Amino acid sequence: MSSVIETDVLIIGAGPSGLMAANELQKREVDFICLEKKAEPSDLSKALGIQARTLEMFELLGIHKSFLKKGYPGPGAKLHLGGEKPSLVELYHIKSRYPYLFIIPQSETEAILEDHLESSGGKVEREHEVVEVLRSDQGVYVTAKHEGELKNYFAKYLIACDGVHSKVRKDLGVDFIGKDEGFTFFLGDVDIPDFNEIYIDMTLNDHGAVAFFPYADGSYRVVGMDRAKQGLPHKDDLSLEELQESMNSILPVSYEVENPKWLTYFGTAHRQVPSYRTGRVFFVGDAAHIHNPLGGQGMNLGLQDASNLGWKLDAVLKGYANDSFLNSYHEERSPIGADILKETSTMLKIINLDGIEGRIRNWTGKAALTQSWIEGIVANRLSHVYNEYTKTDGNKALRDSSLSRGALQAGKRIPDHLLFFDGTNDERLYPLIQKHGHLCFIYIDAQNQELIDYAYAFYEKVKEKYQHLFKIFLVAKGGTVRTDGDELPIIYDVHRDLKKGLGMEKGNTLIIRPDGHVAFHETSTDAEAMMDKLARYFS
Ligand SMILES: Cc1cc2nc3c(=O)[nH]c(=O)nc-3n(C[C@H](O)[C@H](O)[C@H](O)COP(=O)(O)OP(=O)(O)OC[C@H]3O[C@@H](n4cnc5c(N)ncnc54)[C@H](O)[C@@H]3O)c2cc1C
Repeated sequence: MSSVIETDVLIIGAGPSGLMAANELQKREVDFICLEKKAEPSDLSKALGIQARTLEMFELLGIHKSFLKKGYPGPGAKLHLGGEKPSLVELYHIKSRYPYLFIIPQSETEAILEDHLESSGGKVEREHEVVEVLRSDQGVYVTAKHEGELKNYFAKYLIACDGVHSKVRKDLGVDFIGKDEGFTFFLGDVDIPDFNEIYIDMTLNDHGAVAFFPYADGSYRVVGMDRAKQGLPHKDDLSLEELQESMNSILPVSYEVENPKWLTYFGTAHRQVPSYRTGRVFFVGDAAHIHNPLGGQGMNLGLQDASNLGWKLDAVLKGYANDSFLNSYHEERSPIGADILKETSTMLKIINLDGIEGRIRNWTGKAALTQSWIEGIVANRLSHVYNEYTKTDGNKALRDSSLSRGALQAGKRIPDHLLFFDGTNDERLYPLIQKHGHLCFIYIDAQNQELIDYAYAFYEKVKEKYQHLFKIFLVAKGGTVRTDGDELPIIYDVHRDLKKGLGMEKGNTLIIRPDGHVAFHETSTDAEAMMDKLARYFS
């Protein structure tokens, strides 16, 4: 037995969730260790779609460009619901800078995340299998096996990213509530010489469902459910002949598949831990929730969980926030996970309708998708840009009822905007968040000494208590703004994006979190009252 290795945060598992958590902590120079049992990264393509909100999170982390270079933007889906013409779901409706489903295999996503981690000075401790987890009030004790030796760790906090069969969950006796859905899906990464499509192409009929996802190299992911093969004893191995047979039985037109890179059957289930936080342990990704693959959302949820947690842990470990601030991780992320579990299990039931019910589904689907507003709702919903945290008790308590009706309140997602500094030095909002973390906008409207004095008084207090955790900006509509100091840069709201888009009015203060959600929006112009509100926010 070795001596105990101490760290602030232990991350267990280096799949997408663990790697994202590690990058979030590395960016903020948090002391952490990431333990992964596998010697090599996985080469399985598994999740191949990155949703718009996840790309926004990647931008906030500063790694989006590495992704954008490697995959391609999927424009939408064609649904064959009977009749000659497919129904379309166009993703350009998504209200984001990334209005598409970004197609890239999970193995490449993991490689980009691990490369970025290494290039910024972090690393994954591979071939470290966690064999025991014990928790105490002060922290978490972990034993890991490495090259036949046992190594002991103690951390103030632990992030369990160890997937669906989580060892952490088992050792801590945490339930994984839900059930198997009883369906078997087939999956093949293959070449289809006679098929040429840039949209996700899905057929739904009485024989089952098949969807084709085009990869950047011209090959396809084929995934589907063959009604004739449900209820058989489960097996993982799928042969090319079985894949071809299922496709032939479901599709009205037959396509030859060849050159398989990965073939498998997989079952589906929906399960979730009752709480994403247990003492000093946080469950992230598949360790916290699993559901069927409809809508391509599992990995995306995990990546966004990690984004929600990383900066909060940093704020607590640096002493700016209380430990109870971390409860908001469960409060914010668990309802989003629960919604997706419900939604995907409903989608599966709808897909499974046959006979007259199946025909009604197809007629209704076709009629609905002729309406572009419905198409817009579907596209935005699947892209996760609607995922907001306004309904948690913590965020409700931070609302300011004096704000105008359209003003963004605590927990709301802030879309990216172009900020006009001086016409030659414009910057978008997201790179600013990426650079500074929390941002604070104080809407002074025009030269207004009272508001400028308030802004500087608030700035001095923030500097004393939170040092560089915040960057404060003054916002004016136009005109010359003269201030005694030059610490607070001036944004000109010439497009009225902050007024119309975020609902800011003269005298309002808007604080934006590092994950691009509203921390709170206030009408008070009393620096002391604002400091009290900040203390409430961080508690
Ligand atoms: C066939 C298939 C298709 C999918 N398609 C999609 C899709 O299109 N879109 C989507 O969003 N999602 C999809 N998913 C889901 C997606 O793959 C998962 O949601 C994602 O991998 C979860 O990431 P994670 O990091 O939470 O867990 P995992 O990827 O499971 O990573 C867990 C890591 O923990 C490590 N680990 C486990 N136990 C220990 C231990 N005791 N000690 C140390 N390390 C340990 C494992 O080795 C692993 O590296 C698909 C999944 C499958 C199987």
